[in-house]
Amino acid sequence: MALSAIVIGAGALGAATAYHLTRRGAEVVLVDQHAPGSQTSPRAAGLSQKAASTETMARLMIEATEALASFEQDTGRSIDFHRSGSLKAAYTEDGEARMLADLERLRGLGVQVELVSSAEAERLAPWFKPGEARAIGYVPSDGYLEPSTLPIGFMQRAVELGARAMPFTRVTDVLQQDGRAVGVATNRGELRADIVVDAAGAWTAPIAARAGIRIPLQPVLHQLYVTEPIADVEPLQPVVRLLEASVYVRPEKGGLLFGGYEDAPRPVDPGTLPSNFQIATLELDLGVLRSLTDEVAAHFPVLDNAPLAVHRGGLPTMTPDGLPILGLMPSLDGFYVASGCNVGGLSLSPAAGRALADLIVDGTSDPDLGPLSVERFRDGYADPAELQAACLDRYARRYVK
Ligand SMILES: Cc1cc2nc3c(=O)[nH]c(=O)nc-3n(C[C@H](O)[C@H](O)[C@H](O)COP(=O)(O)OP(=O)(O)OC[C@H]3O[C@@H](n4cnc5c(N)ncnc54)[C@H](O)[C@@H]3O)c2cc1C
Repeated sequence: MALSAIVIGAGALGAATAYHLTRRGAEVVLVDQHAPGSQTSPRAAGLSQKAASTETMARLMIEATEALASFEQDTGRSIDFHRSGSLKAAYTEDGEARMLADLERLRGLGVQVELVSSAEAERLAPWFKPGEARAIGYVPSDGYLEPSTLPIGFMQRAVELGARAMPFTRVTDVLQQDGRAVGVATNRGELRADIVVDAAGAWTAPIAARAGIRIPLQPVLHQLYVTEPIADVEPLQPVVRLLEASVYVRPEKGGLLFGGYEDAPRPVDPGTLPSNFQIATLELDLGVLRSLTDEVAAHFPVLDNAPLAVHRGGLPTMTPDGLPILGLMPSLDGFYVASGCNVGGLSLSPAAGRALADLIVDGTSDPDLGPLSVERFRDGYADPAELQAACLDRYARRYVK
């Protein structure tokens, strides 16, 4: 008999997991309290980079970026993926050492990486003035996508393959029997299955708490803006990241998309949000982005007083070590988590969903998801204040942590 699964959350991580579980022959129900793909995922910047701080993550991000590039071919749906490449500029010795280590890791995994001069970087992205960078890394196979299309694309393809989508269905409890998760209670009645996946984004921890499970996560406000069109911005110009300033810029609809990681981020406790809360109503703070823009004005002079077309933000979930939480919850058989996106879950989702589905169906995955198990936090972060401080520290100036 086919394995049955309930996936809570039709954002990028949940929809990707539902798609891959369905491909592996599972009977999947994908439940979301709101419209699918309507919360944090569609508000992302859509950047996808292969570089990562651990080998497990680098392998997943290489797979994920290539899966995004072939998404249309694989699922029949466009996600507007642009193989633009990405530039990363380091201005301090520490930043340079970190970037070179990440590039070396990628090179060891067979990815083409280069170091380019300031002049070459500016030729590739004419709106970027690198100045006195110590080193500029270039990964030509990185890219970006239109974020709103990805969860919907995964969900629609999963449904075509036999999954059932249940939008506007709020999970209110996790059903347990003999130490196993056996389903969920919802505002539309109970659903039973062999396994449950908690991929509820900012709400992951409160749902797990219903099952008596503590997941060390902290949702944090993260924002970006998009300018009106600017002369000479082209879609295939590379994504640019400044490491020490922790900002990113990429082309978007003829303008530039700008986002970054401030020193004093705003944590949000999902337990304090009203039950009908939607990310669309989140209070934003353009001042944060204006300050970051001022800091890097010499590198992106075209952003000075550029009229804005879009300002958006969402609630990515941070973990104390900056790595996602993917895998089985050891204290409850049949209960899996896909969360702790650390502002990278959209682009990670194709590989995270594939690896988690393999783990669920086969009991093992390649790469081994052990390093991303919640087990690594078993003895720590029981104090909410300590957890919050560690997660906010991970967020602040994220590119140099
Ligand atoms: C401004 C910004 C820029 C970003 N840039 C990037 C980027 O460049 N690259 C990248 O990879 N990532 C980026 N991210 C991060 C990315 O958006 C997240 O990692 C990703 O969206 C996480 O997906 P998710 O599925 O966990 O969450 P979500 O998309 O929020 O999905 C969770 C879903 O769970 C549902 N849910 C919650 N509780 C319940 C319940 N009780 N019952 C039923 N359903 C429930 C919600 O309604 C929601 O639809 C960015 C984020 C922001 C805000």
